[in-house]
Amino acid sequence: MVALGSLSLACSTDESIDGAAVGDTDVVASQSTAALADTAETTTDLPDVVVTYSVLAALVRDLVDGVADVVTVIPDGQDPHTFEPSAKDIAMLNDAALVVANGLDLEAGLDNALANADESGTKVFFVTDHVTLADLVDVNDHAGHDHDHPGADSTVTEGHDHSKDPHVWLSPATMREALPALAQAASEALGTDLTAAASRLDAQLQAVDAELTETFAEFDECELVTGHNELGYFAQRYGCEVIAAILPSAATSAEESAGAVEFVIDVIRTHDVAVIFPSLGSSGAVAERVADSTGARIVEVNTHFLGSATSYATFITSLGDTIAAGLRG
Ligand SMILES: [Zn+2]
Repeated sequence: MVALGSLSLACSTDESIDGAAVGDTDVVASQSTAALADTAETTTDLPDVVVTYSVLAALVRDLVDGVADVVTVIPDGQDPHTFEPSAKDIAMLNDAALVVANGLDLEAGLDNALANADESGTKVFFVTDHVTLADLVDVNDHAGHDHDHPGADSTVTEGHDHSKDPHVWLSPATMREALPALAQAASEALGTDLTAAASRLDAQLQAVDAELTETFAEFDECELVTGHNELGYFAQRYGCEVIAAILPSAATSAEESAGAVEFVIDVIRTHDVAVIFPSLGSSGAVAERVADSTGARIVEVNTHFLGSATSYATFITSLGDTIAAGLRG
């Protein structure tokens, strides 16, 4: 079963994957972040910008800092793909000065609440309406290769076949595309000109993107095996290729099939992959089974949670550095 909540995910990975200390730190950090957010919400008179998930909230916070409070709906550490809102969450969305969401079914459980908020007059901004979307690549379809992989099943795409990849936040270059429209929407909603803040944030994202480009230039080949099908934008931007996902779906609500796991194991062997990067969506036990069968190392990555990062820039830099260090071995 892969529809893991934050705590069960943290527990299962802590028990079975290297880096338990990192997981513990993340839990503590996210708790303190939530506490800070609650405090901010109740002690200032600033309007609320409500953002669906933590990584996007960090980006928005850098944009509206001092002008609005940023409140996150999906607690950091909870899977955005499977989150269901409470009545309080729905009220918060309806009362927001502005709602910022990802879209493309990332927050599928919030879709109705977002549509209702929009209908009742709350401005809802979807990031994926303002960026160049990448096709959702069927990472486990190696039909174009000159070799076959047992277990390959190119039909296992969990209803996202021929659709677009929602994981836009995993490329800072993609997020930069949304900034002008986001700044405009926030400026209008908050009655403040945020052009200067948007320029500063854009320069920061440009610098982070340049840094990651330089980091990944050292790799002649960058083949990634991931938890679910989540690193498409990152791979495309930095010259990598996602060659297999333990859960070959853009959402995490599916289960790993025996065939898919067999396929991943074969891809790792055939492509001589030394490291796998599980995160959300695949259980620690399955990742460990894949690692045991192939001798590949497990480097757990944080793709969907802000965790201990203090900003979007530190989040994406940390993810890139972790992947690069994993590839170096
Ligand atoms: Zn995802």
